[in-house]
Amino acid sequence: MRQKIVAGNWKMNNGKNETKSLINDLKSSIKDLPLDNTRVIVSPSYVNLTIANEAAENSKIEVVAQNMHQEKSGAYTGEISADMLKSIDVNTVILGHSERREYFGEDDELLATKLNTALANDMEVIFCIGEKLEERKLDNYLLEVGSQIRNGLFHIKDADWQNIIIAYEPVWAIGTGETATPEQAQEMHSFIRNAIAKRYSKEIADNVSILYGGSVKPANAKEIFSQPDVDGGLVGGASLKAEDFTAIIKAI
Ligand code: PGA
Repeated sequence: MRQKIVAGNWKMNNGKNETKSLINDLKSSIKDLPLDNTRVIVSPSYVNLTIANEAAENSKIEVVAQNMHQEKSGAYTGEISADMLKSIDVNTVILGHSERREYFGEDDELLATKLNTALANDMEVIFCIGEKLEERKLDNYLLEVGSQIRNGLFHIKDADWQNIIIAYEPVWAIGTGETATPEQAQEMHSFIRNAIAKRYSKEIADNVSILYGGSVKPANAKEIFSQPDVDGGLVGGASLKAEDFTAIIKAI
């Protein structure tokens, strides 16, 4: 059975105190929710991962990283390795976010390498894919996302899929206030699931959680999450307020 997941991507927001208080607020606002088979994830910046993990103790909240480097260690100034994350009990990492692809030049090939490093270290990966506005307008969006999945993911082994969560995030919907319609999300999610079924198996495809991301808010979460192939969300802006994030968790 695939899991339902609501993940907050904090991006470059929140210092130490904000991290603690946001997690504490969230902890109390979700403590009585029936969250069986639902995971709640937050992704603070590297420097606050430890603080976040401490604050999240004795709660459903899981703390994950926003990125990591593909090499084991060495002369890579400013970078963070899988070993470092694991040494502070962070076992899940977001890879391939469109902001990493766009501003930091991370392409499919590099992301496939990062993915391999994460899997080799027994880490779970939230792998992000999504088309840009031009590709949507030109009706090339299925082709583009299809090629991101093939190039980024389709070299992994069957058994690796238990450590993969996919986040479909149309780039035109990220931080823009514009959301994919529930139908647009469902079309893409079912396309992704079918592609996995074809390349691997129906069983693997049925067990992968596929999250939608891009301007998910309390007002639209329920409708998006009600689609059969949408298993939750990767939430940016609306994950920075406990009240909004809680409302989104309730929507699932
Ligand atoms: P947004 O960001 O919810 O602010 O659009 C989503 C994301 O980038 O993961």
